[in-house]
Amino acid sequence: MEKTSEVLIIGGGIIGLAIAIELKLRGASVTVLSRDFGQAATQAAAGMLATGAERLPGGKLKELCEASRWLYPQWTQKLEALSGGETHYWPCGILAPVFALPTENPSSDRSGHWLERDAIQLYQPGLGREVAGGWWYPEDGQVDNRALAKVLLQAAHALQIDLREGVAVQAFAQKQQKIQSVLTSQGEFSAQVYVLAAGAWASQLLPLPVRPVKGQMLSLRMPVAPYQPLPLERVIFGPDTYLVPRRDGRLIVGATVEAVGWTPHNTPAGIQALLHRAIALYPGLQDWPIDEIWWGYRPGTLMKRPSWPWPLGQFSVSDRPLPQRYSAGSHHGVVAGSIHLGANR
Ligand SMILES: Cc1cc2nc3c(=O)[nH]c(=O)nc-3n(C[C@H](O)[C@H](O)[C@H](O)COP(=O)(O)OP(=O)(O)OC[C@H]3O[C@@H](n4cnc5c(N)ncnc54)[C@H](O)[C@@H]3O)c2cc1C
Repeated sequence: MEKTSEVLIIGGGIIGLAIAIELKLRGASVTVLSRDFGQAATQAAAGMLATGAERLPGGKLKELCEASRWLYPQWTQKLEALSGGETHYWPCGILAPVFALPTENPSSDRSGHWLERDAIQLYQPGLGREVAGGWWYPEDGQVDNRALAKVLLQAAHALQIDLREGVAVQAFAQKQQKIQSVLTSQGEFSAQVYVLAAGAWASQLLPLPVRPVKGQMLSLRMPVAPYQPLPLERVIFGPDTYLVPRRDGRLIVGATVEAVGWTPHNTPAGIQALLHRAIALYPGLQDWPIDEIWWGYRPGTLMKRPSWPWPLGQFSVSDRPLPQRYSAGSHHGVVAGSIHLGANR
């Protein structure tokens, strides 16, 4: 059996790597076991920091996502300094058009600014004619999640975190309710503390209320002209579809939400639905070239709550002994990513 570090993290997505980096910066020795960095939902996501536009009901999840979104500027700066890479964090705001006027007075919703039909069309020319108005969420934004994943990996390497790619954890060996070791495709590993950050796959290892929710995505190429603004420069969060413009000219179109278990791949029906809804939202994109299609598994949790069972702030390597195991994961994993271990340090 190989003794690794004080902390053994299972999963190399945004949550596992964010925790690994923060623990390492606080003096812990850390090992990350990941089956496949490429299969993480972190790579498949749109990178929206859409706490306002998601219209989460008031409560702990909303508070958590807001706090995390506010940490993003300093968290991404810190990661960029550690890694030398770029995350492309962009506080571009999110515009959320609707096709039907809300039944309640929209101005009574304080989380965003209501824009009437003419105002929203002026603010974002080219929206579909059926758009009846919409909200503007100036505090929301986006990060290029693939760039962020790369920066997290680079920062982890720079900090000499022990990263083991291609290692699949198969089971926990337990004795008297304590984990003794983890059995993996590459042998047995032990540590003092275990963190399960395996995203949608977490419930394959422990009986957690997490299930896969497949999302299909595609990207288009926006026309880019020298010295001209991009046709879209803020996220458009429509009903059932969103458009996320990247500064390099890509337009990310997402996403289906499919309870199909572990059924993989893009499907004609999924891509057709995405394109149909995207064209209704912003008709001009129908002539833009398709760049890429992909899919991934979100870690779906009950009521979209994060799946961690500990109170925030409980982690501390130096002040008190650590409980032996944690699970960490979130349906809104990208927007919630910065808050793991209080990334404001
Ligand atoms: C299509 C799509 C769009 C999304 N858009 C957004 C968005 O705009 N904004 C937002 O906030 N969130 C979004 N999400 C959700 C977000 O991507 C996830 O919540 C987040 O990435 C979860 O991060 P994670 O680190 O918990 O899991 P993941 O990123 O899935 O990483 C889990 C890792 O664990 C590894 N692993 C699993 N099982 C094992 C095992 N047994 N042994 C070893 N390793 C294992 C996997 O290989 C993987 O590398 C989206 C998700 C999808 C799929």
